[in-house]
Amino acid sequence: MPELPAAYDVIVAGAGPGGSTTAAYLGQLGRRVLLIDKAQFPRDKTCGDALSGKSMRVVRELGLVEEVEKLPHGNIRGVTFSAPNRVSVSIPFQTSDPNRPGGSGYCLRRMHTDNLFFNAAKKTKNVTTMEKFQVNEVVFENGAAVGVKGIDLNDAKREERIFRAKVIVGADGVNSAVARSVLGEKAALDPAHSCDAVRAYYSGISGLTDQIEIHFVKATMPGYFWIFPMENGTANVGLGLVSKDLQAKMKKDKTNLLSMFDYILKDEPMFKERFANAKAISPITGWRLPFGSARRQLAGDGWVLVGDAASLVDPFSGEGVGNATASGRMAAQFIDEAIERNDVSKLSLGAYEVAVWEELGKELATSYKMQRLGRYEWLLNLVVNKAAKKPAVRELISASLSDEVAKKKFENPLTYVWLLLT
Ligand SMILES: Cc1cc2nc3c(=O)[nH]c(=O)nc-3n(C[C@H](O)[C@H](O)[C@H](O)COP(=O)(O)OP(=O)(O)OC[C@H]3O[C@@H](n4cnc5c(N)ncnc54)[C@H](O)[C@@H]3O)c2cc1C
Repeated sequence: MPELPAAYDVIVAGAGPGGSTTAAYLGQLGRRVLLIDKAQFPRDKTCGDALSGKSMRVVRELGLVEEVEKLPHGNIRGVTFSAPNRVSVSIPFQTSDPNRPGGSGYCLRRMHTDNLFFNAAKKTKNVTTMEKFQVNEVVFENGAAVGVKGIDLNDAKREERIFRAKVIVGADGVNSAVARSVLGEKAALDPAHSCDAVRAYYSGISGLTDQIEIHFVKATMPGYFWIFPMENGTANVGLGLVSKDLQAKMKKDKTNLLSMFDYILKDEPMFKERFANAKAISPITGWRLPFGSARRQLAGDGWVLVGDAASLVDPFSGEGVGNATASGRMAAQFIDEAIERNDVSKLSLGAYEVAVWEELGKELATSYKMQRLGRYEWLLNLVVNKAAKKPAVRELISASLSDEVAKKKFENPLTYVWLLLT
């Protein structure tokens, strides 16, 4: 088995938004990085394609906004919510949100988004990229991660190769081989803190606007159905349910995600007319979302996890690109400092884990509470009914889309008393 010398400071396994961000920032800091992915870019990733304000922060910092603008995308100016009682309300993005200048956001196919992030990393000085290489496991010495072992998918003999570095970053998504190596059984997903979702692209849906649509459909509660407008009148359409709820529903109602999705498009009164002339322009695909409401260890001796490998998806919105890039950005900073100290132990790299929970922990906890509250149909009906009638309620929801303090108000019982009385 050929073994190469420790030619790198950092190996990043997985070149999605999390891994490419980590590699780009580390390269900028002068660290020698090997960025590995088993796929060849451009590659697709099953997703809703909505780029949140948090994702746009890194897009902006990496100088990619102009490129995003040039690619086919949906221009988004707000969110339409509907409640199980079929009342809906449209909430505009705040024009003051610096990450959505002028109140405008994007829906961009992941095929494009991830290629942008990957190429930004590839162009960064000190970053070497390697596609079509599958990482199978982490190599340990005296309990510390010192390399990765895997196979070159172009090699007909499939001989195992080892690459060594001071720090190994697991950015290889929800089924992370790195997380399995470093965490063992603790890397298994908890069905109460993960979600199953399917999505397909459609053309010809009537009534598309410049808003993403999130619908809490009675028959598929407590899941949510989305329609995210893309370029040229197309849309990304999907349905997701917390895995535990889906398992219970499959048992009780003898159903599954695909038949629920089919039901909404063909039979649900709110949508059957809108989809009457719609055409699927892609196959329907499914994937899992690991929620940040279940905390896992994010750093150890010689290793760090980011993005889905770190289980950081927002448990209410299902948004994960923003936290993948935010964690990648932080990982780069703390890995750089640890290498500078010549100490890549758990204690040293653990500063990254502390910083992640400091920056994202409260927001993830609020989102988890909102996800739990969103299981009560009466509550969703109350909030959406009031928002449809009262500008003050719409303003609070609008603020909560970009401001954590406003979002936190939905945790406070007094907010619901206010809603009842307003
Ligand atoms: C249906 C659905 C809808 C979603 N909608 C949204 C949305 O609208 N907005 C949003 O922000 N988020 C959304 N998410 C979540 C989002 O897709 C993820 O959180 C995000 O992709 C995480 O980025 P990442 O870089 O951590 O991992 P990934 O994007 O999964 O990238 C991991 C990379 O690692 C590579 N890899 C995997 N295994 C190996 C291996 N063994 N060796 C080498 N390479 C490997 C893969 O090829 C891939 O390129 C959605 C998710 C789903 C499933």
